[in-house]
Amino acid sequence: MSSSAPAIATPEEIGKYEPVIGLEVHVQLNTRTKIFCGCPTGFGAPPNTNVCPVCLGLPGALPVLNRRAVEMAIQAALATHCRVNEFSRFARKNYFYPDLPKGYQISQYDQPLAEHGWLDAEVDGAKKRIGITRIHLEDDAGKSIHDGFKDSDRFTYVDLNRSGTPLIEIVSEPDIRSSDQAYAYLTELKQIMQYVGVSECDMEKGQLRCDANVSVRLKGAEKFGTKAEVKNLNSFRFAKMALDYEVARQVAVIESGGRVEQETRLYNVATGETVGMRSKEHAHDYRYFPEPDLVPLRVSDAWLEEIRSSMPKLPSEKREEFLGKGLSDYQVLVVTASRRWSEHYEKAAAISGDFIGTANFVTSELMGMPDALDRITPEGTGTLVRKIKEGEISGKMAKHILEKMYETGESPDQIIDSEGLRQISDTGALEKIVDEVIAQSPKQVEQYKSGKTGVIGYLVGQVMKASKGQANPAAVNELLKAKLG
Ligand code: ADP
Ligand code: ZN
Ligand code: MG
Repeated sequence: MSSSAPAIATPEEIGKYEPVIGLEVHVQLNTRTKIFCGCPTGFGAPPNTNVCPVCLGLPGALPVLNRRAVEMAIQAALATHCRVNEFSRFARKNYFYPDLPKGYQISQYDQPLAEHGWLDAEVDGAKKRIGITRIHLEDDAGKSIHDGFKDSDRFTYVDLNRSGTPLIEIVSEPDIRSSDQAYAYLTELKQIMQYVGVSECDMEKGQLRCDANVSVRLKGAEKFGTKAEVKNLNSFRFAKMALDYEVARQVAVIESGGRVEQETRLYNVATGETVGMRSKEHAHDYRYFPEPDLVPLRVSDAWLEEIRSSMPKLPSEKREEFLGKGLSDYQVLVVTASRRWSEHYEKAAAISGDFIGTANFVTSELMGMPDALDRITPEGTGTLVRKIKEGEISGKMAKHILEKMYETGESPDQIIDSEGLRQISDTGALEKIVDEVIAQSPKQVEQYKSGKTGVIGYLVGQVMKASKGQANPAAVNELLKAKLG
């Protein structure tokens, strides 16, 4: 039925409907070792080198739960206001993939680690609270690498280095009502995970993966429509585009008298369309059953409290804090964009002693430099801002010094010294130059004394020139005024 329907609905048709969206996000935890064995988790090792009998799924090998992975999952749960269950249980989810050597994934099913959380997603200044149904722990599969184009030389390679990497799956309630809200939810979730330190969430490395469940209903209707699940969303921008496409597709199906199929669809980046992949599998297809090789997981109150008390600040708390320091909404967004930016900004502000000045500098100068955080230290930023504030260097010089810092990795003081950029604020040295300029400009001095005080600009300019730009203009101005009476 859907195949005979027009691909995309008109804006008027779409306007009659409300999207209903729930997201399933997988986040790779950045533990040093895998979830059920001691193999390293590092990215980029030669294929099939970080493996052992457990993560290769060899018969008889037994999993041992990584305590650090549980701790990180709990941190993620607390950061999203979830209730952490005292008892949870692992379950086998059976399916066949060439890169899943056990023939099942160890996940959690009816007793997940954490439930009933939420986070606030902000769109155009409006906050929307989105429920989090559950967060559970599971192991990742290996990777299939497809190679070759012609049938005759097409190969698929299997790399099991990733097999057994710890994941959390974060399942949202179907509370999301637009692709913009979905984008905001994902952005906030990623930031939270980064701030808490459980994952870098680098999507290019597959550290954050997202599937979207989408349905539409007539505005005002209560009952949800049939949902389709869209997979393969490699960036938040693609997720938003895929959702927009999928909503328009479903509306077109319904408007032309059809029925949305419950199915799994793939987003095709090249065409911008979603394509039916398979009819949706149901829980019973996986034949979930309790994992017999692992005891139930118990999180004691004491352990939970220990983790709770060592939680870092969340991005939302940081945003509040910086707003309180007088930063603009835009500046707050910029300096809290990631935990690294937030830490850079905060350390720099502590050194400069000027929250707003540092925010101005970070947003206007630093943000635009690619990989700025890898090349400029918070000490460097803080020192520059302090020097501007104290009149030691001008804003223009700061810009130049920053560029040098970026290129050479040297500190502001090293660059100021090696380039002779120190401003002359020392009165003795300045006085000498000022006296010379006064002696050489009798006409302008006359004019000034007869009331044409605007001519002081000329005199300041002469002093700046004589000092090769190293005089402090404010100090020169004062000195001239004092001398001319
Ligand atoms: P399934 O049994 O198909 O796995 P779940 O009820 O477990 O479905 O939900 C999976 C995801 O789909 C969740 O993120 C949930 O919020 C979302 N979801 C459930 N029903 C709908 C719906 N009608 N429309 C959109 N999303 C939905
Ligand atoms: Zn292993
Ligand atoms: Mg489900």
